[in-house]
Amino acid sequence: MSNSDLLQRSLAAVWHPCTQMKQHAAAVEGLPLVPIARGNGVWLYDFDGRRYLDGISSWWVNLFGHCNPRINAALREQLEELEHVILAGFTHRPVIELSERLSALTGGELGHCFYASDGASATEIALKMSFHSWQNRGRREKQEFLCLAGSYHGETVGALAVTDVALFKDAYAPLIRPASTVASPDARLAEAGESAVDVARRAAAALESHLERHHERLAALIVEPLIQCASGMAMYDPEYLRLARSLCDRYEVHLICDEIAVGCGRTGSFFAHQQAAITPDFLCLSKGISGGYLPLSIVMTTDAVYADFYHDATSRGFLHSHSYTGNALACRAALATLDIFAEDQVIENNRGLAEYLGDCLQPLAGHPRVRHLRQRGMIAAFDVVSDDPQFSRRFYRHALANEILLRPIGNTVYFMPPYVIGREECEFLVARATAALEAALRS
Ligand SMILES: *Cc1c(COP(=O)(O)O)cnc(C)c1O
Repeated sequence: MSNSDLLQRSLAAVWHPCTQMKQHAAAVEGLPLVPIARGNGVWLYDFDGRRYLDGISSWWVNLFGHCNPRINAALREQLEELEHVILAGFTHRPVIELSERLSALTGGELGHCFYASDGASATEIALKMSFHSWQNRGRREKQEFLCLAGSYHGETVGALAVTDVALFKDAYAPLIRPASTVASPDARLAEAGESAVDVARRAAAALESHLERHHERLAALIVEPLIQCASGMAMYDPEYLRLARSLCDRYEVHLICDEIAVGCGRTGSFFAHQQAAITPDFLCLSKGISGGYLPLSIVMTTDAVYADFYHDATSRGFLHSHSYTGNALACRAALATLDIFAEDQVIENNRGLAEYLGDCLQPLAGHPRVRHLRQRGMIAAFDVVSDDPQFSRRFYRHALANEILLRPIGNTVYFMPPYVIGREECEFLVARATAALEAALRS
């Protein structure tokens, strides 16, 4: 089997995600489609023997490398015991253990875990639970949601309501019941003399005035803690989360922390919201939680929300389900992932690794076309000054030619590598990204 063989077949039969398929067809400037034969650690290998360093953890899901021996072993063991069982009326060890361990990671504050298979479903579950818990309390008027400018919470019709990315949303506008949007605390919005904390306080003031006027109709505010990833790695100060938490308390509005991208150690703590020393009412997890192995998402919530549904009336329960809810293999992959966090002291070790990645990137801060070089934990990004509408695609092509997988969001180039990346691989990634940047700016 060769690359060209497989890519022809893929283009004929597979409708690829987030893609204008016609762009793959263009002969010269077309998007390359890369058939991957195998993976090992941070490396992916195609059918022609070329390799690519996975600098974005295969869409932010892979934490400990491809074909991780420990996760593989756990899954083999699980395969011999139980692959899946209905979770209504039945339960199993991996789902119990995972729920207990995740709850413990929140200090027991979020002690109830609800399961689904993907991030967008987790968003919808949190929205439905928030709404329904207010209904169950007799707060009938609380039917609306609030999100931040530039937010991304998934692309199903319900999740798009709280997603503020025009490219994903506008085509479906007539289908969507829109949420309101308040200012983002994005630190890049700092005016002269303003710090990141100042921007956070300014955004919180805007939030306060919105809540003051609309809290009676609002069920929840949904945020991506510390980093709004999909709209271009907008990073902000934890002060915003502290203020948002206390405003939500004061105005009786739930706080949903969508940690689908920033959870699982990405920002330097296991959960991003922990850096603000707050507890949300709902926490959404997915992506990295299964180590990048299997689709799994989880919505965690408090005793108070759980109590709102606990009743003699069936209709007051949360009657939501997915066929693969709490899949045993996916839960086992998540347990193996949590084992690696504990055994390898990943959070501590990532500090040194993140610092090293930052040191490698530092020379780019002086590049004449680079702005806002920024980093939090194992996510780093910079914006490129270019009015070429093709910049992102061009960079992507040159990155592949340089043996690295990086996929800019507009003019934002970002790095989100697996935590098993070595120091030499960090150097390789940044050196090749720099080469790809120069090539993309030249062409
Ligand atoms: C990726 C992502 C989602 C959606 O997850 P899917 O599994 O792609 O549906 C939701 N919220 C955030 C913050 C994400 O990064």
